[in-house]
Amino acid sequence: MAGSDGTFDFCDLVVPGVRELQPYQPGKPIGELAREYGLSESRIVKLASNENPLGPSPKAIEAVRQAVQDAHRYPDGNGHALRSALAERHGITPERILLGNGSNDLLDLVARTFLGSTRQAVYAQHAFAVYPIATRSAGAEGIVAPANGVEHRQPYGHDLAAMTACITPRTRVVFLANPNNPTGTWLAAEELEVFLETVPGDVIVVVDEAYVEYAQGLAGYREVSGWLDRFPNLLITRTFSKAHGLAGLRVGYALCRADIVEFLNRVRHPFNVNSLAQVGATAALADPMHVARTVELNHRERKRLTEDLRRLNLRVLPAAGNFLCVEIGSQAAAVNEALLRDGIIVRPLAGYALPRFLRVSLGTGEENDRFMASLQQIHARGLLEVTA
Ligand SMILES: *Cc1c(COP(=O)(O)O)cnc(C)c1O
Repeated sequence: MAGSDGTFDFCDLVVPGVRELQPYQPGKPIGELAREYGLSESRIVKLASNENPLGPSPKAIEAVRQAVQDAHRYPDGNGHALRSALAERHGITPERILLGNGSNDLLDLVARTFLGSTRQAVYAQHAFAVYPIATRSAGAEGIVAPANGVEHRQPYGHDLAAMTACITPRTRVVFLANPNNPTGTWLAAEELEVFLETVPGDVIVVVDEAYVEYAQGLAGYREVSGWLDRFPNLLITRTFSKAHGLAGLRVGYALCRADIVEFLNRVRHPFNVNSLAQVGATAALADPMHVARTVELNHRERKRLTEDLRRLNLRVLPAAGNFLCVEIGSQAAAVNEALLRDGIIVRPLAGYALPRFLRVSLGTGEENDRFMASLQQIHARGLLEVTA
């Protein structure tokens, strides 16, 4: 409706689901901190976006370098080479694989295909921020299931019984992350199996395995691609952004039934995964040693940093990813600010309803040392509470 001065209040024009959304808050880019605080970029340590501290595989870098010469050509809209390589890796046919411009693109495709007004998606409190964005921008209602309590062995993690209780006849999608970001917690294969057996068959269960490589070997954890035949409503998302070190290229994929792929393909933008991303991901897949080195570094640093933080009497949540979720206390925002002044970027979690926590991505040994040294100084100033 036009106001008295003849202009529109555009807020009234926006669809209701979008009106209530907050934009996704990414980790602060290095260049932005350098500009705002007058710091030199080379002194800045970014531990805010769960990126691979070792960078991309050298093989992926070389492949992208070669491929840029053909950048005047449109990409292969079907991603033949990458899908074939992934199919071989997973022992399934390429028809059961869909590529996305990052796995976030796939979450959005699922929402636009299966959600819409009158429908609902269920996700947990403290779950990945993209689930509500995908749900509400598709016009659907997001139902937030309460998370595990503080005393649970996976505090603040997904409570599958609570999620089951949120499912109604209008629910078409459940989003869950295993391991979850930003908590780092994980679900045991047995409980996930019971959940999948309980969920009605007309509800798509998205299991977001962005951190699968880092979680292997943890008590009870198992990746679930072997269950695709057993549970026709299961859709798994994976990404090259984390252990493969290609976050800037934007490429992820979904594993599910071929007929679901076919429906998702109807709403997919024709060239959603660019040619450099396709080539880089294919080369990264052929370099398992780089992933192995990445995971080894992560396991070592995850253990070391967890111990260092606990020595400061800080509570660290069980961590299955390449990051730690640390309870700092009531001064978490001030601690974040002090770290920024020191050139260290971590992730405040107030937007995830965890205002007492910071999320710290695991970097190289040297980067983690910089973070700990800064935190020690902050500790000396009395900004850290005893939370362990
Ligand atoms: C980082 C992350 C992703 C990956 O997103 P991309 O779009 O593939 O970069 C997906 N899910 C979760 C839970 C994540 O933390």
